[in-house]
Amino acid sequence: MKSYYVISRAINYGKTQVALGGSDSALLDAQLLLQHVLGCDRQYLYMHPEQVLEDQQWQDYRTLIEKRRDGYPVAHLVGHRDFWDLTLAVNDSTLIPRPDSEILVERALLLALKDDAKVLELGTGTGAIALALANERPRWQLTALDKSAEAVQLATTNRDRNGLTDRLTLLQSDWFAALKAAQRFDLIISNPPYIDPDDAHLQLGDVRFEPRSALVADDQGYADLRFIIEQAPAYLNPGAWVMLEHGFAQGPKVRAFFSEKGYEKVNTVTDYANLDRVTFA
Ligand code: GLN
Repeated sequence: MKSYYVISRAINYGKTQVALGGSDSALLDAQLLLQHVLGCDRQYLYMHPEQVLEDQQWQDYRTLIEKRRDGYPVAHLVGHRDFWDLTLAVNDSTLIPRPDSEILVERALLLALKDDAKVLELGTGTGAIALALANERPRWQLTALDKSAEAVQLATTNRDRNGLTDRLTLLQSDWFAALKAAQRFDLIISNPPYIDPDDAHLQLGDVRFEPRSALVADDQGYADLRFIIEQAPAYLNPGAWVMLEHGFAQGPKVRAFFSEKGYEKVNTVTDYANLDRVTFA
């Protein structure tokens, strides 16, 4: 099909189509997909509203818009997602990094840890949290692990592309299993799976395209949160912290798990929607 579409009209078309598919960020989605096809930044789209798309560009864009309308996450269609101040490669083997998880980074940076603190991230996925911390704290000694070999591979790519190769050790491990018994950390941080297997939320939006192993946990979503809280003390230095992301209604139980296990200074902080999201102790 011949393209008579200029940038501004293509965006309007894309926005309408994507909204039909139920996206609540239709304009941004269309812009990100057109940026991907044109290889430009967002500002370029605003500066060149009358630029005519080449036929191939229009066809590539339409294909992406249709996939987005069918529910595919924008991050999967363009292959990357920004997190903190890093651009990370993403694919369907891990969770897509979310702004909510930036709360973990923000709070971790506020802890009074020593300059060369040892930090462990459990279930790193794309590597987002550990890499953001590595980038912010050049002297911290970071280790991140994931059960999935594909995730470790993706996190390795992201680490190397962001110039953080010698800042982060990556391991394939089912939670603590591959760690040496003698290893101790000053902070253990994680965004584990925490969704109840029966949660209707799993039928909506991007989560349909993400691995269940990164999202869902037994015992109404509490199994992994609880496991980490119970196992972590064996790997903690005196005065160390454990910091976990969890569901907005899970704060009371997560605080109780921490307290029952004898942790002190148990604290929950809220996300950008003012909902309980991160508890540390
Ligand atoms: N916050 C994510 C969501 O609700 C889930 C992340 C997780 O399970 N760790 O889509």
